Amino acid sequence: MCVNVVLFTADLRLHDNPVLGAALRAAERVVPLFVIDSGIAGAGLVTPARAAFLSDCLADLDGGLRARGSRLIVRAGDVVRETCRVAAEAGATEVHVASGASGYAQRREERLRSALTVDGRSLRVHDAVTTAVAPGVLVPSGKDHYSVFTPYHRRWSTERLRPVSPAPRRVELPRLRSLPLPGAGDLARGTAPAGLPKGGETEGRRRLAAWLRSGLAGYAETHDDLAADATSRLSPYLHFGCLSPVEVISRARRAASAGERHAGEGAEAFVRQLAWRDFHHQVLAAVPAAAHRDYRARHDRWRTDPDELAAWRAGMTGYPVVDAAMRQLAHEGWMHNRARMLVASFLTKSLYHDWREGAGHFEGLLVDADVANNRLNWQWAAGTGNDTRPHRVLNPLVQARRFDPRGDYVRRWVPELAALPGAAVHTPWRLGGAERVALRYPAPVVDLTEGLARFRRARGLD
Ligand code: FAD
Repeated sequence: MCVNVVLFTADLRLHDNPVLGAALRAAERVVPLFVIDSGIAGAGLVTPARAAFLSDCLADLDGGLRARGSRLIVRAGDVVRETCRVAAEAGATEVHVASGASGYAQRREERLRSALTVDGRSLRVHDAVTTAVAPGVLVPSGKDHYSVFTPYHRRWSTERLRPVSPAPRRVELPRLRSLPLPGAGDLARGTAPAGLPKGGETEGRRRLAAWLRSGLAGYAETHDDLAADATSRLSPYLHFGCLSPVEVISRARRAASAGERHAGEGAEAFVRQLAWRDFHHQVLAAVPAAAHRDYRARHDRWRTDPDELAAWRAGMTGYPVVDAAMRQLAHEGWMHNRARMLVASFLTKSLYHDWREGAGHFEGLLVDADVANNRLNWQWAAGTGNDTRPHRVLNPLVQARRFDPRGDYVRRWVPELAALPGAAVHTPWRLGGAERVALRYPAPVVDLTEGLARFRRARGLD
């Protein structure tokens, strides 16, 4: 009897999972395996937010497998050693896994391939599982990746995606031992943010359906409105692979063609964001070192000022829209994209601190923290990455007036300022002395004009 192993990584789902589909087609029995990887969990890289979400994902995946006559086999330790061990115990012929863009995923794949070959087994790696279009499929002539989004997006939009596949009806499992499903506390120490969403494929699919029904049509118009909170919030489900990006895109396109007047514009704008996701993955896959090093060196000599950095982290910079965003991150483990852009520009340009400081802080809290999206968006904001206008500085006041014109976003997250009406909430320093002192809210950590001049001097622009 032929047995295959499916090593689940960032594809924690049963629907539209080509890894599982291929393993099932090639064998009578399949071992659905998840390894609590000592290289990730043991290295402290699973934060409390992601541990909570991940344990929900694993419980949901196990539930889905049990409903199909199987269950999730959980092991812990070195991912390559444990996978080989399970493959040997099960007498498996092949191990199936999704390809990944990060340096870590690429090394895992190489190590797995050579260890399995020694044992007389083979590794089958599947593309277009964690992204819609796999890195390396679209390349400009003579290069190994696109470094600019617009031409990438043009090509990406005309690419034919693979068909979406249903969840399997049944999965037959050989007899194997498993560790109990890990709870959040088994994966990381510490407390997860209070406002964290529930993880898992079932919840992801429920949210996707609700979003297509009632959020998609307005997306083009409202996605930058901070107070409206009108984005899909699907990022953690995409990050852990509870949702397939191919399925999300095809359902959004389908909803657009069947839907109301603005659904087409909404779907186009939404799908474009998913192209950004693929774009960053193909950059990282080609240049894995971009997780740590400048993609385009600007020879920055970043400032270090622990007090400023602490104020930024704590949401106490004295710029209400920046502080609102940083507090949202601490409370929900998530932040609106426009807010991510403006706090990143504030840290790297107005304060001129190293983008790695900001990326690291985000990774400590974000439930959707992703090497490709986080690190390359930080580089984009810092002007060391793929932005075609690398020296542009987002002025937090201009951004606040544009994207939180009534000040509702700030009032939601900065309670000290909740009594200030309308857009006055963005400029508390304009209040008279006693009134201002009574707010117990800090004075701005930087003068924006001076910060801008300092940045321009540092980059040799003036
Ligand atoms: P929607 O607006 O509903 O977009 C749909 C999906 O498109 C998102 O779920 C996401 O998967 C993708 N997407 C949207 N915007 C981007 C983008 N700019 N780049 C790549 N993919 C995008 N996204 C992450 O998933 N993980 C991160 O660690 C991450 N770090 C970021 C750091 C910075 C400094 C910035 C500026 C952006 C970062 N983003 C990251 C991108 C983006 O902010 C989030 O994906 C988005 O806010 C998630 O909310 P949503 O699901 O409601 O997005």
